[in-house]
Amino acid sequence: MSEEMRSMDLEELTTALTEMGESAFRGRQVFTWLHRGVRSFDEMSDVSKALREKLAARYRLGGPTAVRKQVSREDGTIKYLWELYDGNCIETVLMRYRHGNTVCVSTQAGCRMGCAFCASTLGGKVRDLTPGEILEQVIFTRLDSGVPVSNIVLMGIGEPMDNLDNVLKFLELVNHPLGLNIGMRHISLSTCGVLPGIRRLGELGLQLTLSVSLHAPDSETRSRIMPVNRAYDVDELFKACHDYFKKTGRRISFEYAMIDGVNDADWQADLIVKKLRGMPGHVNLIPLNDVAESPLKPSRRTRKFQQRLESQGVTATVRRSLGGDIDASCGQLRRKAMERKECEV
Ligand code: SAH
Repeated sequence: MSEEMRSMDLEELTTALTEMGESAFRGRQVFTWLHRGVRSFDEMSDVSKALREKLAARYRLGGPTAVRKQVSREDGTIKYLWELYDGNCIETVLMRYRHGNTVCVSTQAGCRMGCAFCASTLGGKVRDLTPGEILEQVIFTRLDSGVPVSNIVLMGIGEPMDNLDNVLKFLELVNHPLGLNIGMRHISLSTCGVLPGIRRLGELGLQLTLSVSLHAPDSETRSRIMPVNRAYDVDELFKACHDYFKKTGRRISFEYAMIDGVNDADWQADLIVKKLRGMPGHVNLIPLNDVAESPLKPSRRTRKFQQRLESQGVTATVRRSLGGDIDASCGQLRRKAMERKECEV
């Protein structure tokens, strides 16, 4: 299989081109075209025909095709189901917020983390996405929708920390001044709590926002709904979060899907308060999306839970749910397409 060109950084491109006998500035030229979203080398109009042919013989350059696009009538959220070159399908969501338009990207085809409430993990992980495939979701969502993009969240299908090398390279690419030039402060990365990844990210000290999918502050409950907790216990997770804050000075955001009778008790709110002490955390309460395959149901105590956190000094917000009319969350669209055999697993 030929090498995928949109995964290469500027240095790699420049080296490859100079090895082909080209001058170094060609690297910048080609890099710029790639990030503008060309789908064929022939679109690189200021690159000679001879070089375009040489590149086409050596590299793969295509991009995903939209097999489904759904636009929410309620709030303008757009959801794409993209088919990759090998038949795999992934989802990308564009959300319109007052503070800027946000693209939610997938980092893997499927997921192997096994969270009980999540549709993305039902068929397991198929493969990691390359840096270029993560980047293309932003590039082609922007091109297709015509909507400018200012923020990115790595909260689509997959566990970013389970594909961290590719995710880090994606961050470098999307941040590049010759590319989309999206600043780290406009990017959030969400993890279910894969500790080595959190530690590695902490060492790098990037200015992005780390989100941790907490969903329960006690070991017993968390292990029940999130198998990752059996490998990396919630107490170690909190410790890693405190260390991350000390190293980076960045406030962590904790995601908490409210599940009826499972994680919505007062004592669990109190335990969150206790375990966050010493760190300015922010808890984002998410109304559980009802996944047909799961017996878990949305909580009716969300406001009470929020008040209990807030009254003890922990900032807590309730996430506004967007795109409810278009299955715009958590792997549900891919799941349905797989069932209809519209795309491969
Ligand atoms: N694997 C990463 C990235 C996925 S982000 C992670 O776990 O953080 C997607 C977010 O949506 C996570 O916080 C996830 O726990 C949450 N989520 C998954 N299924 C959900 C559901 N049915 N309802 C509400 N939130 C859900």
